[in-house]
Amino acid sequence: MNQFYFFVLIDDNNNIRINLKKSNVKIRMTTINLSEKLILTRPMYISDKDCGYCHGSKTIKESISLGFHVENFTPLQYDKLIQLGFRRSGTFLYKTNVLRNCCKMYTIRTNSKLFKINKEFKKCINNFNKSIGNEGNTNKQFDLNKEIQKIFTNEFFEIRNETPEFTDLKYQLYDKYQKKIHKDKTTSAKSFKRFLCDSPFPEYGEIKDHKVIKYGAIHQCYYLKNQLIAIAVLDVLPSGLSSVYFIYDPDYNNLELGKLSAILELIYCNEFLKLDHYYMGFIIESCQKMVYKQKFGCEVLNPLDNYKWYSWESYKEIANDELLFTKDQLLKFEDKNREYLLDLKDIRGVDFIKEFDEIYNDDGDLFSPKDKDLDNNGNIYDIPVNFPGLKDLKQVYEKNFESIEILNYSNSMGRLRFFNFEDETPTIKKVLMNIYRIIGDELMNESILII
Ligand SMILES: [Zn+2]
Repeated sequence: MNQFYFFVLIDDNNNIRINLKKSNVKIRMTTINLSEKLILTRPMYISDKDCGYCHGSKTIKESISLGFHVENFTPLQYDKLIQLGFRRSGTFLYKTNVLRNCCKMYTIRTNSKLFKINKEFKKCINNFNKSIGNEGNTNKQFDLNKEIQKIFTNEFFEIRNETPEFTDLKYQLYDKYQKKIHKDKTTSAKSFKRFLCDSPFPEYGEIKDHKVIKYGAIHQCYYLKNQLIAIAVLDVLPSGLSSVYFIYDPDYNNLELGKLSAILELIYCNEFLKLDHYYMGFIIESCQKMVYKQKFGCEVLNPLDNYKWYSWESYKEIANDELLFTKDQLLKFEDKNREYLLDLKDIRGVDFIKEFDEIYNDDGDLFSPKDKDLDNNGNIYDIPVNFPGLKDLKQVYEKNFESIEILNYSNSMGRLRFFNFEDETPTIKKVLMNIYRIIGDELMNESILII
């Protein structure tokens, strides 16, 4: 029997999160090491009428993302979540619903084989080399690795891989960058820490002599004559290097540090660290601020095809926000689910469907998500049945939830209890089913849910 324990924490005052992190919990005869677990909050389906990318200029006027907070995960677990289209912002993980979103976000990555050096990039590297006292490349032959080596071995310029800890110096640079480049007047030390220093990894990442010692988050700091001029926030993961954010001193605008850093990180990832992929976050086809990424020869994750990687060139047209998902295509998704329902009625009987409907009460409504799930924020809704990239109803029906034994820790009662899935309330059942739809069996087996 494929029985497993699913650990649920009933968290009524938040203290439990801090107390349990990085410690062990003893249950029956075994000890659970919490730093190996994916500890997450219940997923939220958040609709925001005010889209930061298109500002309501498109036919579809809604920006919808699916997200959850993560208290802890291992670099490998995060790597798996990236392959499911998620990306982290601090400790919050999110992705968009490509069926309903005004701006459809796709995860993109590249590597040194896909990357083709062009005139623009050559110029950027040459300029930088000259500005730090290296010789520029005057030959017709442009050996990219050699040019990058020159940068890494220069005596006035240094890139140091540091722990992602907060310092005043880093914050001052962030503040200056946000104000000058993004006209953002709302920066605070707290938001910098939350956004670019905090992460759910149990340990900091570590790189020594261009070798990965530990996976996790790092700050790759650029020093020119010992002065901090830029910071790349990076996640070092088993399948590659993931770019989180990049900040630089606007006084050095002429060095094109944003462009340079992407080339450096790509080469550093493949040629120095020997990691396979360089993850560049999300791309939105219609977003001018993001399409520069396609110059790096990217491939994208396709949620419509079980999260397979497609070359950006071949997928670009489908990714067009205004083109994708006619009503017909949406109906196809819906019909698929209806067929499953009919099939399953034959297999498992009408009662099963009825009971399931009570839990999952969702008629697959196409454009208006409804049934507020949490009442603290009017913008949080049920996760719809039709969501490309999530397990569909058939898979949920076929999953044997009854075999899950739920280990329940109630903070108010201060003790552990075992439940069966069947004994749980419809709300909890639904949350568990949703988690299964979102992260699948394998990750769910390693998860702890904070209700
Ligand atoms: Zn938008």
